[in-house]
Amino acid sequence: MSIRKIITDPHPTLRRRAKKVISFDNGLHALLDDMIETLRYAPGVGLAAPQVNISQRVIVVEFGEEEDPEAPTQLYAMVNPQVTEFSQELVIGIEGCLSIPELVGEVQRPFAATIKGFDRHGEPLNIEAEGWLARIFQHEVDHLNGVLFTDHALRVWHPEDEEIQADAA
Ligand code: ZN
Repeated sequence: MSIRKIITDPHPTLRRRAKKVISFDNGLHALLDDMIETLRYAPGVGLAAPQVNISQRVIVVEFGEEEDPEAPTQLYAMVNPQVTEFSQELVIGIEGCLSIPELVGEVQRPFAATIKGFDRHGEPLNIEAEGWLARIFQHEVDHLNGVLFTDHALRVWHPEDEEIQADAA
């Protein structure tokens, strides 16, 4: 396993529509293992293959409920993920992105989503997510379509600027 370099906006790979994975081979397994290691090293809660300059439909998500810091994190490694259903209810949350390290922003998304895809062996996966988990999955699937959170954020800002404003208040 090795840590891969995370590319940043405006790298052209981030804007490409990633290709569907057709063979669940050792190359895919190595990519998934490297992505998990890279995500943990960053650290982050989600990573899509285009962020390590591989234009394939592969994502990893690792997340623990914030309300309970003692709760174990859950790792998801998903191939060819698709958001197949989402709730009517929309919520606003603050997102960041490992490929846009200088900005955070408010993004409105469905509160809940169903994500279908495959595990590393090609077995079907079906995840019903809500709250932050649903948000992370939607953010990662956006990456596979060449979409960045800044494209549909209600507003974006530099995290440092907001701190200064808060202090001034
Ligand atoms: Zn991102």
